[in-house]
Amino acid sequence: MAIISSRSDNNAPEPKRPKVTVQPEKQPEDRQEETLRPKGLEEYVGQKALKAVLGVAIKAAKSRQESLDHLLFYGPPGLGKTSISLILAREMGVNIHLTTAPALERPRDIAGLLVKLQRGDILFIDEIHRLPRITEEILYPAMEDFRLDVTVGKGQTAKITSVPLPRFTLIGATTRSGSLSAPLRDRFGLLQALRFYEVDELATIVRRNAGLLKVPIDDAGALEIGRRARGTPRIANRLLKRVRDYAQVEGDGVITEAIACQALELYEVDPRGLDWTDRRLLQILIEHYNGGPTGLEALAAATGEESQTIEEVYEPYLIQIGYLLRSARGRMASAAAYKHLGYEPPKRFEQASFLDGIDPLGLRN
Ligand code: ADP
Repeated sequence: MAIISSRSDNNAPEPKRPKVTVQPEKQPEDRQEETLRPKGLEEYVGQKALKAVLGVAIKAAKSRQESLDHLLFYGPPGLGKTSISLILAREMGVNIHLTTAPALERPRDIAGLLVKLQRGDILFIDEIHRLPRITEEILYPAMEDFRLDVTVGKGQTAKITSVPLPRFTLIGATTRSGSLSAPLRDRFGLLQALRFYEVDELATIVRRNAGLLKVPIDDAGALEIGRRARGTPRIANRLLKRVRDYAQVEGDGVITEAIACQALELYEVDPRGLDWTDRRLLQILIEHYNGGPTGLEALAAATGEESQTIEEVYEPYLIQIGYLLRSARGRMASAAAYKHLGYEPPKRFEQASFLDGIDPLGLRN
């Protein structure tokens, strides 16, 4: 299997903040990520439902000697969309070409990739919701009829010529499946969500990766890192590296629960994995808006964050752990969020009429 990458995200500039970043987008500090990727399905922890569906798809495609159906993976960053795609290529014994939508601005960018494909190859497009319309339209006949339509000439003499393509599999990865156009979404045979990981699954990932990094770690240390990793393997890897540094400088190199706690306190990652911005967001909601509900725009203005950043980066995990609630009337802090930040939850949380079909008591916690 060859991995052909035309992604450009590894060249991003260094962030100005010195702290460990607990937000899940790929950061320059994740450069070493490739060494920690699970190599096969057996190393890919969790995501049971996803693995079951893919297991069937792989067997069926192999028995028919066909390529896999086009696949769309959606879910927050860092949950393993790229990793599972690389594993799929390995299992199928095919090449995988990695790219990202922002690198496909011009039609010739995508056309150039398509003509290089060999039978059965996988083309992986990250952030596929960001494809420009014009590029997306080239994909429609390519996905459906394995055909590349090229316009030859200009103006009234322009003609469309079709070039046949080998059967290939397109894997799209996105954090916003709702932003995909219907024609593109409809051309995927399988749409699979990736979910946040449980603490014990993250601890398993941490233990394995500590082994790869040759850092001694005990079970309680791995669990503590897992607890603070926001359900996200990428963040677990990042925290592991920071705790390793701390263990080497302040301890005897071994990661224990105490060392993990001390290190992550130093990096301002709290016991639920919240960082300074998460806490500030909830604090503003509680102190300025009496816990909400308040609109996203108002919250963005008060915190100085972009509303899109709040929606895509901060909210998913806060909602997942039941600290933030989203209703038609706006964002609300749950009783659990009040308690976590040391506030007394207001009495109104106890009134059933206030529940409005959501979970302000944070009972899912
Ligand atoms: P995404 O493409 O969803 O942003 P990645 O596949 O790049 O996420 O995952 C980031 C890192 O997290 C990987 O390099 C790997 O170390 C780790 N990882 C993700 N999912 C898993 C998993 N299921 N099991 C083990 N490690 C994982």
